[in-house]
This record gives sequence, structure tokens and C-alpha cells, in this order.
Amino acid sequence: MKIVRFWMFFLCFLVIKSNAKNVFEIKKDSFPFIEKVFLEHQKNSNGFAIAYGNLSKKEIALTFDDGPTEVSKEIIKILNKYHAKGTFFWVGHRIKNNEKIIQFARKNGHLIANHSWNHENGFSFSNEFLWESQVEKTLNEFSKYGITDVQYFRPPFGAITQNQIDFLATKNIKTVLWSITTNDWDPKENSDDLMFQKLKKNMHSGAIVLFHDFDYGNLDSKLKDLEKILIYGIRKGYKFVTVANLN
Ligand SMILES: [Zn+2]
Repeated sequence: MKIVRFWMFFLCFLVIKSNAKNVFEIKKDSFPFIEKVFLEHQKNSNGFAIAYGNLSKKEIALTFDDGPTEVSKEIIKILNKYHAKGTFFWVGHRIKNNEKIIQFARKNGHLIANHSWNHENGFSFSNEFLWESQVEKTLNEFSKYGITDVQYFRPPFGAITQNQIDFLATKNIKTVLWSITTNDWDPKENSDDLMFQKLKKNMHSGAIVLFHDFDYGNLDSKLKDLEKILIYGIRKGYKFVTVANLN
């Protein structure tokens, strides 16, 4: 009997181990193959790190990084056409000279958020240095333009430690990651309907989708695919909301 029990445990161990490998260890970028470290951050951060929302609510947060640029304006027009709200993670040093875009986003009910000062990978920064040189510096810049309620931060490249997340939490800043990336910066993936097909296949309740409001090439394809994603999602019963309104 003891021997049978041992083998049963051993078999269970093997099954669990191989599943874990499939789900977590293969580096993919889409739910349920979301990066293990993002899942861990969400689990360990008491609401201060978000990679996805409620998995049983048909809501999706479309997010756009690296602006503000002229592309932001085009994206906002498309979102408005479908009564969708987006979240814009903007880089501090680009805020100046783009006040009109900032006000356009604001006026139309989109959420403005923080994507560092100069897009540096801050993974090895001390908490204080990350705060002063990137996060707070950008908050200060926003406040010059009357934007004083920025609460969400997305680290460039998704590179952040648990310790940094916990530190930002003490400043009431929530770290936002993602569950699906369009890879719209990658010429191998950002044309010919590919982003729409990817979203169609991976769309899920509570998704946080990573786009960029920056022209990394094939901009027309991106704008077309964004529109197709909105049409498809709305037809499937999804609501497109800001990260703040994701349940
Ligand atoms: Zn970025």
C-alpha cells in the first residue's frame, strides 16, 4: 500500500511539474501564457500590481505606451468613434510641447498615466532613485499641465522588482503590467492583420492589452487593427474601459 501511495504522489508531482512548465516557464506574452513574474507581482502586491482584471467580467483595458505623440491623437479619435476609453502611459520628457494632445485625451475621458521620465530600464535602480529620477519627475511634469491625479505607472519593458512595486505602493502608485501584448513595435508582427488575429485568438475578460501610441512602423496597420479589435470586441459583448475602471 505504501509503495502504491508513493508512486501516486510521484506521478502527481510529475504532472504538476509538467503543467507548471507549460504555463509558466515558457516565455510567452499572452494569457494564459502570461509571464510568471507578472502573475507573481499581481499575487503579492495587494492590488498595487495589475496584470489583468476580473477574469469573469467582459471588460478590456486597451493601454498605449510611449506617447504623447501625434499617433495618440489618431488613436483617441478611433477610441471615441466606438465610445471606448483607453489608458495612456506617457513618457515625462515628451509631455512638454504636447499639451493639446494631453487636453484632448483628458476631455474625452481617457486615463493619463505614467511611463517613466525617459524610458530607462529601472530594474536595477534603488527605490529612491526610481522615484526621484523617473516616477516623481514625470508626476511633477504632469502637474505643470494641470494633471494632478496620476496614480498608475507602467515600468518601461515591464521591468520592475517586487521591492520597487511595494515602495511605489507607499506613494499610492499602482504598477500596471499586461496580459496581452500586440507587439506593435515588431515589424514581424505589426502588419497584415496579425495584431487583430492575435487579439481575436487571445481576447479574454479582464485583459490588459499593450499597444504603443508611437509610430514603430506600419502605423496604418496598427490603426486598422485597433478598429477591427474594437468592432470585434464590442460584437462579442466586451466593454473597453480604462485601467482604473477595470474591475
Ligand atoms: Zn514603453
